[in-house]
Amino acid sequence: MSRMVPLLEQLGVDTRWSVIKGNDDFFQVTKKFHNALHGRQEKITEHDFAVFMETTKRNAEEVELYGDIIFIHDPQPVGLVARKHEIGKKWVWRCHIDLSHPDEKVWNFIQPFVLQYDEAVFSAPSFSRELPIRQFLIRPSIDPLSDKNKELSQSLIDSVLTKYGIPKDKPIITQVSRFDYLKDPVGVIQAFELVRRNMDCQLVLAGGTATDDPESDKVLAEVRERAGNNPDIHVLLVPPGSDIEINALQRASTIVVQKSLREGFGLTVSEALWKAKPVVASAVGGIPFQVKNKFTGLLSHGIEGTAYALKQLLANPGYARWLGENGREHVRYNFLITRHLRDYLLLFLFLDYSSDVDVMYL
Ligand code: UDP
Repeated sequence: MSRMVPLLEQLGVDTRWSVIKGNDDFFQVTKKFHNALHGRQEKITEHDFAVFMETTKRNAEEVELYGDIIFIHDPQPVGLVARKHEIGKKWVWRCHIDLSHPDEKVWNFIQPFVLQYDEAVFSAPSFSRELPIRQFLIRPSIDPLSDKNKELSQSLIDSVLTKYGIPKDKPIITQVSRFDYLKDPVGVIQAFELVRRNMDCQLVLAGGTATDDPESDKVLAEVRERAGNNPDIHVLLVPPGSDIEINALQRASTIVVQKSLREGFGLTVSEALWKAKPVVASAVGGIPFQVKNKFTGLLSHGIEGTAYALKQLLANPGYARWLGENGREHVRYNFLITRHLRDYLLLFLFLDYSSDVDVMYL
């Protein structure tokens, strides 16, 4: 969003970005909704639904809803659509998560809001639901010129390694992710331990704890306990906005892992591939669109499968390099922000155009 908004402005689309507010109770509920919509078992109570409705009502009164097209991202603010009957305009719900196997209770609660929108946008056909409103399928993207992805000098990369106490004398395997169960950081450590039995290497787990993610402190504590005082495991708590540091850590990596159990699109994968890194990732959510197995990276299953793929790449640097270079080209053609902007502009044009088309692949 921080890149998309100014680029839309430069293209002549007057764009504003509003953010909803919530307290801890609301974020506890929305995190449970997030997990449940990803298909994880969660205990959701009537009180949770009431908390969601109360915060939604307050945000609907307070948030600035500007423009001819109101683009609402994800389930947390989905209920702002209550204002549609009053202010009119075109409303688009942009869903970033995989809704293919949601918990029915939560989906039945969210769905009546979704149906009030003019259009829904999903990241992939397989993420979407059968809905009576029109759907657009638009892949996410990365901005190659952002701090997260731009080229960095070797001296800057080295300074970030020094800052975090990561030596350069052995291969670095990295996962960048929020500390979240669905990113399976403990599973990454277990896979690393299997690799480390035979090969000298080190693991970097870099992530933050998000304000809207009340589980992250608990997950981070479990990760730290599992890592113990193994000198080859670096658990880094990276503050929000450390884009250059994340970029540097990705660039310093020999291999990038994304061992998610569930995933939305998984932008970290495109970020790593753009840096021509060999990637080992689970075949969940949007990852298989980015990692074409044995061509732009390796798709792995489970702890042993991840360890096996990591060993294969550590033992075959030429193969690893080839995968990374293919990955970069794959991202260049499919997942850069220029393509994403074009898709959004087409979507905006299409909003005023009524047709019998129910699903539009952009
Ligand atoms: N990220 C970050 N700092 C962190 C952890 C993640 O900047 O400590 C970034 C990461 O580089 C990526 C985004 O947050 O750009 C995460 O997107 P992704 O789709 O991979 O996962 P999500 O967190 O949305 O489930």
